[in-house]
Amino acid sequence: MNPINRELPDHAHVVIVGGGVVGASIAYQLTKAGVSDVVLLERGVLACGTSWHAAGLIMQLRGGHTATDIARYNAEFYPQLEADTGMATGFKQNGTLAIGRNRDRVHEMNRRASMAKSFGIDTHVLTPKEAKDMYPALDASHVAGALFIPGDGQLNPVDTVNALIAGAKKRGARILENSPVDKLRRLPSGEYTLDTKNGTIRCETLVLACGLWTRDFAAQLGARVPLHACEHMYVVTEAMDFVVPSLPVLRDPDGYTYIKEDAGKLLVGSFEPRGKALPVEKLPAEPQFIEMQEDWDHFELPYTKAMEMIPALEHVGINKFMNGPESFTPDDLPCLGEAPGLPNCFIAAGLNSEGFEISPGISRALAQWIIDGQPDRDLLDYDVARFHPFQMNKRYLRTRAAESLGGIFAMPWPFKEHETARPVRKSHLHDRLAAGGACFGETAGWERPLWFAPKGIEPKNEYSFFRPNWYQHTAEECRAAREGVVIIDMSSFGKTMVQGRDACPYLQWMCASDVDVPDGKVIYTHMLNSLGGIECDITIDRRAKDCFIVYSSASAHWRDMNWMARHIAADRHVTVTDVTAAYSVLNVQGPKSRDLLQSLTDADLSNQAFPFMTAQEIDIGYARVLAKRLTFIGELGWELQIPSEFVQDVYDVVMAAGKPFGLRPAGYQALEHLRCERAYREFGLDLAPDDTPFEAGLGFLVKMDKPGGFQGREALLSQAGRVLNRRLVNFKLKDPEPVLFHDELIRMNGKIVGYLSSGAYGFCLGRAVGMGYVRHPDGITAELVDSSTFEVEIACESYAADGSLKSFYDPTGARVKM
Ligand SMILES: Cc1cc2nc3c(=O)[nH]c(=O)nc-3n(C[C@H](O)[C@H](O)[C@H](O)COP(=O)(O)OP(=O)(O)OC[C@H]3O[C@@H](n4cnc5c(N)ncnc54)[C@H](O)[C@@H]3O)c2cc1C
Repeated sequence: MNPINRELPDHAHVVIVGGGVVGASIAYQLTKAGVSDVVLLERGVLACGTSWHAAGLIMQLRGGHTATDIARYNAEFYPQLEADTGMATGFKQNGTLAIGRNRDRVHEMNRRASMAKSFGIDTHVLTPKEAKDMYPALDASHVAGALFIPGDGQLNPVDTVNALIAGAKKRGARILENSPVDKLRRLPSGEYTLDTKNGTIRCETLVLACGLWTRDFAAQLGARVPLHACEHMYVVTEAMDFVVPSLPVLRDPDGYTYIKEDAGKLLVGSFEPRGKALPVEKLPAEPQFIEMQEDWDHFELPYTKAMEMIPALEHVGINKFMNGPESFTPDDLPCLGEAPGLPNCFIAAGLNSEGFEISPGISRALAQWIIDGQPDRDLLDYDVARFHPFQMNKRYLRTRAAESLGGIFAMPWPFKEHETARPVRKSHLHDRLAAGGACFGETAGWERPLWFAPKGIEPKNEYSFFRPNWYQHTAEECRAAREGVVIIDMSSFGKTMVQGRDACPYLQWMCASDVDVPDGKVIYTHMLNSLGGIECDITIDRRAKDCFIVYSSASAHWRDMNWMARHIAADRHVTVTDVTAAYSVLNVQGPKSRDLLQSLTDADLSNQAFPFMTAQEIDIGYARVLAKRLTFIGELGWELQIPSEFVQDVYDVVMAAGKPFGLRPAGYQALEHLRCERAYREFGLDLAPDDTPFEAGLGFLVKMDKPGGFQGREALLSQAGRVLNRRLVNFKLKDPEPVLFHDELIRMNGKIVGYLSSGAYGFCLGRAVGMGYVRHPDGITAELVDSSTFEVEIACESYAADGSLKSFYDPTGARVKM
């Protein structure tokens, strides 16, 4: 094919590297939003990387709200694309017929059907017979239930990329094929230069959309884009009589397969339980239109399952075996957004075999991010800044990528843990916790205790959408926390030291609360974006005049550090340093925590001498530990921050002294149930960049009148002291039986008003509890909430609930202040 354009300008406002569906979509959306000085460089011809392989399936519904919000735009966008460009993309809305082979999968699909209502996505829950009527070739004996989503469909990948490019060109973008970029550099001016075989081009904004090649390519600039290729396979059969253009796309996740109509034939593709990871070095040297060898040994399992579901496949020949490389990320979510430490360098890669499904949504969001300097929606889960440095380890990526491919169709159990690439990071107490019966889960590489198995019980998760095997043990841990005392190893907390002459004024500007407090005061606060949305949910303790430690959740830690680092002005004397490994954290919580700790230290732990939200150095065993009086479960308690080399001894001393108090170790499962019961918000679930502290019911933390103001203050002016149309509300089901996780639909006085951002069983309350943002045009007041009726819909069943702006457990917070 000939290059479309060989003339390389020496400058453009935006340069996009990569002419697959992602690069083409970004060029389209940027030009549509009015940014026309865009150059796209593709080293081969358009779509020659992974995009040409795609089966072209388009689905709107995902497991959660954020992902569905992104994906659903495809059904709106693709018909417009044809209309806009006059170019056929082969897009048709023949619908998805999702099959469940067992009770759990049907329940999970019903949960999605409920969630779909909050987006207005049309879905139909079908019986096996109705599924068979819709798709007569099915063997209905393998169907336990089904879900039909009529707005889903399929498209032709290459035609779609060409249409996107035509739309972008029409609005001014310049597209250069046969333009491999060799070198990337960041200039002292902040601009970027790209060396190609046709010369060098300079730009203010760089977008790297190089598919599976992005990881190594972006590493030139020091960007972290943890992805790894896997082989992704499908076959195309010979023609079959029943295969008509209107046949819906079949998804059979329990059989690991998707099946679509393809010009009178069937295309059968798979997301088998463990994929085949493919190191970049093993790819053919010529990176265009790569086809890997067929591998029937690997494809046998899914194809056998496909024949089980559609027996006619047993009697038809195979026309084509397609095996193409695609990139997968450690958490099955894309790498999107500004690369940490590289202003105006944006990443859009790691599409986990969903490039066509989600590129309309992610490219629209990224274009807005480029134009406004920040996203216009919650992209937390996709943010490339979320990754930790260890996640670039190639062995880790190779091992995890194989699981990620299987993860596309694996059962999305609540609290499902990764099985591969573990253990990565262990606390100094790991062996002690394991000996105590800990069942570990993994967050940001850290092995953390989830729950403790009593003697004789295997510490192994058995998942469920109802009551998993750990519930009774977690319930015991929760009871101990509410009535006695528990100890939780929380060493995985991210700890960032912020130091320097300007540390205090800098943090004052960054945080919505007053941080210029006396040494020893602990602050719970938020860092906001310019729209007033919550970017970081942190606690801070002031160690000295010019030294603070900022605590983040393990998963948010590197994103928080990046947020802090990128807001330090060049003339500020401030440094941020990761000190996570230096300190371990033991959380001793419960009404008996004071008596227990008092038995171990000379320090006065009384309420007067050691008030809530303060910190003191105290002696325990032979160690000096920083004790902070705070809680994330709603009880009296202390967080002990201990130099890591001392933690084993401190743990042993506390455990021994705790015996008469009934001390027991607790895990992160108990923490989740307890914090939900007390209605404490969690970042990433209840708090996100598109939620403000006032909407979250945390306005009491905001110091609007702080001298000098703070980032985000202007945006909050319209909310402070006002009744808001959107607010986080707490819920408690009336029926003691059902359990809640998140994403369940909320109805207020019969109308859909939102969904749960968090949910858990409140073991002390004896009911499932949850919280979620609710919208009402007249404003959400306590009176309105108290006088309204609420229902929460779980998997298409509605349950009556109480709603309240206050926590159902200890609404006055008296227990933490005793
Ligand atoms: C068999 C198979 C079936 C699939 N089915 C579906 C499906 O049904 N639905 C769906 O949504 N997704 C599907 N996918 C996934 C989808 O194809 C990908 O997610 C998507 O194509 C990724 O697009 P991309 O633009 O990120 O990458 P690519 O298409 O790989 O584009 C990246 C481009 O960057 C170029 N490039 C790299 N380095 C440089 C450089 N240094 N200089 C210049 N150019 C460079 C490459 O040549 C390439 O063209 C499937 C994938 C496979 C393999």
